[in-house]
Amino acid sequence: MDAFFIDTKFYHLKMTKLSSEQLLNISQQFGTPLYVYNAEQITAQYKKLTTAFAETDTKFFYACKALTNINILKHIKSIGCNVDCSAINEVKLALMAGFEPANILYTSNGIHFSEIEEAQSLGVNINIDSLSNLEKFGEKYGHSYPVGIRLRPNIMAGGNLKISTGHDKSKFGIPADQLDQVLELVNKYQLFIQNLHIHTGSDIKDVAIFVKGIEVLFDIIPHFKELSSIDLGGGFKVPYKKGDAETDIPLLAQKVKEAFDNHPNPNGKHLQVWFEPGKFLVSEAGYLIAEVNVIKETTATTFVGLNTGFNHLIRPMFYDAYHQIDNISNPNGYVKEYSIVGNICETDTFAWDRPMAEIREGDLLVFYNAGAYGFEMSSNFNSRLKPAEVMVKEGKTTLIRKKDTLEDLIRNQVI
Ligand SMILES: *Cc1c(COP(=O)(O)O)cnc(C)c1O
Repeated sequence: MDAFFIDTKFYHLKMTKLSSEQLLNISQQFGTPLYVYNAEQITAQYKKLTTAFAETDTKFFYACKALTNINILKHIKSIGCNVDCSAINEVKLALMAGFEPANILYTSNGIHFSEIEEAQSLGVNINIDSLSNLEKFGEKYGHSYPVGIRLRPNIMAGGNLKISTGHDKSKFGIPADQLDQVLELVNKYQLFIQNLHIHTGSDIKDVAIFVKGIEVLFDIIPHFKELSSIDLGGGFKVPYKKGDAETDIPLLAQKVKEAFDNHPNPNGKHLQVWFEPGKFLVSEAGYLIAEVNVIKETTATTFVGLNTGFNHLIRPMFYDAYHQIDNISNPNGYVKEYSIVGNICETDTFAWDRPMAEIREGDLLVFYNAGAYGFEMSSNFNSRLKPAEVMVKEGKTTLIRKKDTLEDLIRNQVI
């Protein structure tokens, strides 16, 4: 029934998975479509990181654009994790969730300088990603406010070009080959550079990519005398299907430690290592449950039409992402091939000719790995309503966002 994690390697994970029975009960209580998050799973992922990196001075910032529900942010805070933001509103949400400014990082990209001014006034850590904004920052704040620089290491990595951010055609960061211009600005304005940041992409399985990133940074570190941290971004891979690998976190921790042991900071200052995991913390904690509206037999395939679509989970259509799907109403049904599709007036295919336990109208299907970039990338396309979200924590299931209503669709329209 739970064909997803039968590997013994994943046994500890299975312990924190919600069972099909639990998911069925929850969907009876709250209806479908429904996003369900298991707080314990987030905690377990965070512990994997802190355990592996116990011997290195590390600080983890949850890249909250993966899932920003304030209850999730509060849970993240409660387990001792910090938060990384990609937009000023995420910074404000993090403050609302109770994070101290010192534990909030704003890694900006392509933003107007006024947002950086706002972040500065809120007292949070800032990574700047353009020479233009770095110059404006220098003019306004000089040495008075520590700041980080987002560099583009010119490394190709990630599961898909759309989620690769460190290569030489990526818009993200200041290209490492423009270091001279960065240094000119640092000298001109006496900038207090506290952090050097790189983030090469998402879905990165290969530890060597992170090590390559560290090597790029080690060449640059000596130029920054006041540096107190280096920031290796996020992008750890998680398994989406059986046989998929997760980034080997213990190996990564060992490599990072070795790299630092071999490269003492020539400026004599201790450097803390920062990471910004998004997907790694919340992907597997999330489930999307949907109901089967219609079954349509055709000569090409058997379509299963759900009461959801790419308006709720866009990853399959946007990134060609694979999501494991189970029929939790009929787990032991005879296996047949089905094409699972949404109810949107656009092609929105979740899976094509996927072997599934027999599906009947009214059955409930669950999408795994729906925690990261699931609800967060949802929309009201087709004037459909965004689904409710619930969180399971310490045996209790709580509604953490109500389903949209028709009024929500019309709220800001001027009639
Ligand atoms: C999106 C993002 C992350 C998180 O990426 P994941 O693949 O979800 O781990 C980390 N840092 C920055 C700057 C990002 O933009």
